[in-house]
Amino acid sequence: MRKKFVFGPVASRRLGRSLGVDPIPHKTCNLNCVYCQLGRSQPVVNERKSYFPPEEIVAETLDAIRQYKGKIDWISFVGSGEPTLHSDIGKIIREVQSSVDLPVCVITNGALLYRPEVRSDLLVADAVLPSLDAGSPELYRRINRPHHSFNFNNNNDFDRLIRGAIEFRREYKGALWVETMLIRGMNDTESALRDIAEKLEQIRPDQSHILLPIRSPSETWALPSNDEGVMRARAIFGSVCKVIYPHSVDFDLNGFDNLADAVSRIVSRHPIEQTELERALARCLPVGSDLSREMEKLQADSRVRLIERHGVRFWTGTSSDYPATGEFEKISEK
Ligand code: SF4
Repeated sequence: MRKKFVFGPVASRRLGRSLGVDPIPHKTCNLNCVYCQLGRSQPVVNERKSYFPPEEIVAETLDAIRQYKGKIDWISFVGSGEPTLHSDIGKIIREVQSSVDLPVCVITNGALLYRPEVRSDLLVADAVLPSLDAGSPELYRRINRPHHSFNFNNNNDFDRLIRGAIEFRREYKGALWVETMLIRGMNDTESALRDIAEKLEQIRPDQSHILLPIRSPSETWALPSNDEGVMRARAIFGSVCKVIYPHSVDFDLNGFDNLADAVSRIVSRHPIEQTELERALARCLPVGSDLSREMEKLQADSRVRLIERHGVRFWTGTSSDYPATGEFEKISEK
């Protein structure tokens, strides 16, 4: 059966081998982050509904867990967009948890944590990883470019966003790891980092995770912070909570019947650097296989394509728009 909702397992330092579950249609998101590895959100969507039948998502997830028995450390609800937009996310997590003994995490942009029903849905997860890239409404608007129904022209909606995260921390007994994507010249300055740290202090996460936009950001000018910026962030956030700076990921392509299917499923959610893909292929192909021939075959597959960012080639499977120039477009405000 061709999988629709499940991808991976993907190996990472933070979560070990994690099976990804994507419960929403491609790039359905209430933000349009400048660093989004899935391209621009067109349109930006803030409708919470049951996009796919929960029983189909649960059945496919349990099927994949059986298939990769012993090779999965976490089940990650991550989505090619915002997973909390699926209104049955809580039910789906509970049903998966009731059938398997594996920890479940949800990677979310956190924009809906102000809503009690969304917080309640996530309470059952073992770890929740909300994003916080800005400590002020002005910077949040510039980096995350939220749906027009949010009003970040003043403090009200930003305060509500932070209050939602604080309230979630108060209610939630699992691991709360706040992710910050560090973008050069935007949120890696001392004042921007201190603003974020002030919010982290209020939220009181268990850990702060610093990420870099190294995977085909939607905007060419969204550059990863440099070593100095990362060190600054680690020092400033480190005064508030434990800081994790995970970097590399690995892709397990073993055990798939069809290599092109496996690659397209992964890169449609998680673009892969060309060298990473070559390494993953080298690990899984039979001895004596012709790697360049396999790469050519992949290139001919219409489900995947190559794009270039910062001089690095990435394989992606999304149909999103990746502008070739540094043009800036406030799509969310159209
Ligand atoms: S990075 Fe995440 S939250 Fe931001 S636009 Fe992409 S999918 Fe949405």
